[in-house]
Amino acid sequence: MDAEIKMLKVHLAGELFEVPEGSTIMMAFEYAGFQLKRGVGCREGYCGACATVYREKGDYKLQGGLACQTVVTDGMTIAQIPFVPAEKPIYDLTQLSPDVSTFTELFPSVFRCVSCNTCTKACPQDIQVMDYIQAIIRGDIARAADLSFDCIRCGLCAMRCPAEIVQYNNATLARRLYGHYLAKKSPELEKRIIEIEDGKYDKQINDLNEMGKEELSKIYFNREIKIS
Ligand code: SF4
Ligand code: SF4
Repeated sequence: MDAEIKMLKVHLAGELFEVPEGSTIMMAFEYAGFQLKRGVGCREGYCGACATVYREKGDYKLQGGLACQTVVTDGMTIAQIPFVPAEKPIYDLTQLSPDVSTFTELFPSVFRCVSCNTCTKACPQDIQVMDYIQAIIRGDIARAADLSFDCIRCGLCAMRCPAEIVQYNNATLARRLYGHYLAKKSPELEKRIIEIEDGKYDKQINDLNEMGKEELSKIYFNREIKIS
């Protein structure tokens, strides 16, 4: 016989519900009958779509986390965020230089960083956010690209920054600049791009497009990865 499931009380979008212990915030919303259309994506902690604000019972601190990864606690108060409406300038990557002048022009706010480290503490990916911002300020684009590599663009850092910097959009630009201008070119990649453009893999791509989820998963998990 199954052990009895313990129920926890949580406030979701202003209403009180009971949800099973062990639920993530996302599961709690759905258990309570909410249909999540925005602020939900891969459900595995990779896409960054489900940034959520919450407060634990008896605690004054507002905290942020991913709804698909954060497990509810009894008495938690939770608000879903559909998306983070952060500043995102439009630019043509081919017209930029891979140095600090690009950030001076497109993201002047980055120079307001006061090195408080709040962004690093807010990051659900344990990224050294302040360090990549400082690398950008020093003009070390390669370092910023490397440190921010695992960023999932959830926006939680930007929501906490006292200097109102949009860290992840800066980081995305750093990685784009690195990839376009600074990274060592891969002859294998160049060759493969030409092959794709010449239609060498058209049949395989069509076959993949017609496959079901189960077959695709099997191929994905059995794939061989070449590391050189
Ligand atoms: S939260 Fe903002 S001001 Fe503080 S270290 Fe991060 S980027 Fe700088
Ligand atoms: S750096 Fe910011 S946007 Fe990227 S994962 Fe961390 S908190 Fe989210």
